Amino acid sequence: MKADPVTGAIPVIVISVIDDRPKALQLGAVEHILKPVSRSDLQLALNTARRVVDTDRHEPVMVVSGNPDRETILLAEDHEISRLLVSDFLTAQGYVIVTAQNGNEALQLLQEVCPALILMDIQMPGMDGLEVIHTVRGLKEPGLAGVPIIALTALSMPGDRERCLAMGADLYLSKPVDFKELAVSIRTLLDRGDLTGARVASEG
Ligand code: MN
Repeated sequence: MKADPVTGAIPVIVISVIDDRPKALQLGAVEHILKPVSRSDLQLALNTARRVVDTDRHEPVMVVSGNPDRETILLAEDHEISRLLVSDFLTAQGYVIVTAQNGNEALQLLQEVCPALILMDIQMPGMDGLEVIHTVRGLKEPGLAGVPIIALTALSMPGDRERCLAMGADLYLSKPVDFKELAVSIRTLLDRGDLTGARVASEG
């Protein structure tokens, strides 16, 4: 757009879950807003955009959402190697991965990035995965409370699977994770969400 003389003057605001404002500005955006978008952030960005527009000509303002085709997955995993392996694999699969090292961080990031799906390790120090899942399912925002969750656990205790599902996990996978099974499980849950419209559309 910026290279084209016809569209080059149109101010662009980038909206993304990826916190890379310098890159957005370097590419020619007038502003960069981190998702989820707040009313005040959007207002400030639009004000900035308005300032760079020739007001006499009433140029249009276009808002571009970053990575519209790449779904964000929140991975909560305390074990560093597992976190890197799963994260690398899913990034290669085309997802945007946001990682949390513990339950509290997972809950905080959930609010910040509104992921399309959560991969939740159950054995974590402090607030464990079951507790996090229970908390997520109790959230007031339907878009967050209804997010698909896959529980990951190294324990093979009888009843483990049932406990995860009872807490509100959609699926249960035992560790070490079979990557092929993981990829299929994620796709199934994401596609199911698209079909039922369970996800809130405005989350984009
Ligand atoms: Mn763990």
